[in-house]
Amino acid sequence: MFIRSRRNLAYLFTLSMGSIFIVFAGVAYALVVQQQLQAFDERLYRACKMIVGNSQPRPYNKRSPLERKDSSIFSDSLPTMNTDFVYVRLYDPNKLLVSYIGTPGTSILKNNLGFQTLKIKGYQEKEDSNQEWIRELTIQVLQNNLVVGYLQIAVSLTSLRETLNRARLFLTLGVPVTLGLIGITGWFLGGLAMQPAIQSYRQLQRFTADASHELRAPVAAILSNSQVALMPPYDEEEQRFRLENIVEIAKSMSNLLNNLLFLARRDGPFDPATLKTIDLVKLLQPLSEEYQRQAATQNLNFHFHFTEQAVQLKADADLLKQAVVNLLNNAFKYTSEGGTVSLRLLTQSHRAIIQVEDNGIGIAKEHLPHIFERFYRVDTVRSRQTGGFGLGLAIVQQIVQAHRGNITAKSLPDQGSTFQIELPLRMNG
Ligand code: ADP
Repeated sequence: MFIRSRRNLAYLFTLSMGSIFIVFAGVAYALVVQQQLQAFDERLYRACKMIVGNSQPRPYNKRSPLERKDSSIFSDSLPTMNTDFVYVRLYDPNKLLVSYIGTPGTSILKNNLGFQTLKIKGYQEKEDSNQEWIRELTIQVLQNNLVVGYLQIAVSLTSLRETLNRARLFLTLGVPVTLGLIGITGWFLGGLAMQPAIQSYRQLQRFTADASHELRAPVAAILSNSQVALMPPYDEEEQRFRLENIVEIAKSMSNLLNNLLFLARRDGPFDPATLKTIDLVKLLQPLSEEYQRQAATQNLNFHFHFTEQAVQLKADADLLKQAVVNLLNNAFKYTSEGGTVSLRLLTQSHRAIIQVEDNGIGIAKEHLPHIFERFYRVDTVRSRQTGGFGLGLAIVQQIVQAHRGNITAKSLPDQGSTFQIELPLRMNG
């Protein structure tokens, strides 16, 4: 599915970028052709102006124009002219050829006035083909507003055609190569763009599989307990025992479902505008008294230490309390009798810090990076016995991140663990 989407992305990217590139290359080529032709035309026009400015046509004499190879009328301007003119021809007012340089033309001026692109027989010996493209300009020569002759001048388009052929060859080879590069870039970018989607999809898949797996066991337990309770002969005590089992399992399932719902609903950080300012000391004080009592029943030592001043920040009080409760529950769960659990609240450069420390069983190094993952349990058998689904820390992390905070864990096996929540005292955007 993802490969197909990535291919589609790469294909669309190549199509759009490729079209833009081809249009761009086409326009650039057309502009180059136009610019080159314009340069040719300007050169032709300037040459004409120079010749007309420097020379005056002489009266046509009786000799045939073709017999005359008289180029004297151009002699003043010729030194400044480029030698790659194919021809320069002068006609009298009756359009009869008076004189020429280069390729001789017909004795009568046939072509129209202005610029023309023509194909003529190759005039240079080195030309392989007999045909050659030229650009020709024919103008009237005026004197006192009277037409006193016509001037026709032509240059070869061979060099331009060679340049354009080279440009065309470059484009012919360059366009497919560039399209290939665009395709590869599209494939690469498609992969990058798909990455978050793939990750979320895999997370969701794992989450669904884990959740179903976790729900399967209690459902099976409820089923077996009810089947046994319904089996004759009806024993009241047995039935009561089975029903109590069902109630316990249902409570645990409800707990799991609540956690799952919480994780599914809450995502992304809070908008500070929707939060109320709370005092962490006031929030944690009653909690610590509650856990003090619980510690006594579990033969644990419980210490708490809070700053003397109020620690105010914008937060969802219930959720923050839930996060600390989860950490304290874990500390109580994973610390054996006689152990110590501490809860601390301090402030450090615009941050509130809540620490939950215990000297319980600790967590091995290889498990530490995973403990905040959903459904991750270090010791599945022990966790199952203590009623954990491996969602508690994932929920704590989600709550802390929703407050733009951070949670870290330090732990050493058999020495204990310290979980630290850091919350910004000012939640700006
Ligand atoms: P659970 O509900 O299984 O406790 P959590 O997400 O709260 O799930 O914790 C994940 C795992 O991290 C637990 O299974 C446990 O192995 C380990 N853990 C969490 N807190 C502690 C702690 N204070 N001491 C030792 N291990 C802990």
